Amino acid sequence: MYYAACLKEDQCDGCGVCIVSCPEANAIKLIKLNGKAKVIEICGLRCKGCGLCVEVCPKDALEVVLR
Ligand code: SF4
Ligand code: SF4
Repeated sequence: MYYAACLKEDQCDGCGVCIVSCPEANAIKLIKLNGKAKVIEICGLRCKGCGLCVEVCPKDALEVVLR
């Protein structure tokens, strides 16, 4: 069991603020959803569950969950 960030896809507009805030290299990256809207993808192995991205997201699109 470990903590990791989890995305609420429908609330993310792909602004990228969370990517800048994340201290772990390549834990978050921008992707295209259905070839259109930009959202982020979180790498569960690289994410340490620190919660910094949750705090900075203007859309309340992230949460830290126990996996
Ligand atoms: S900060 Fe929030 S809205 Fe912006 S890309 Fe990250 S999860 Fe999406
Ligand atoms: S919880 Fe921390 S390590 Fe994980 S994606 Fe967010 S900022 Fe990066």
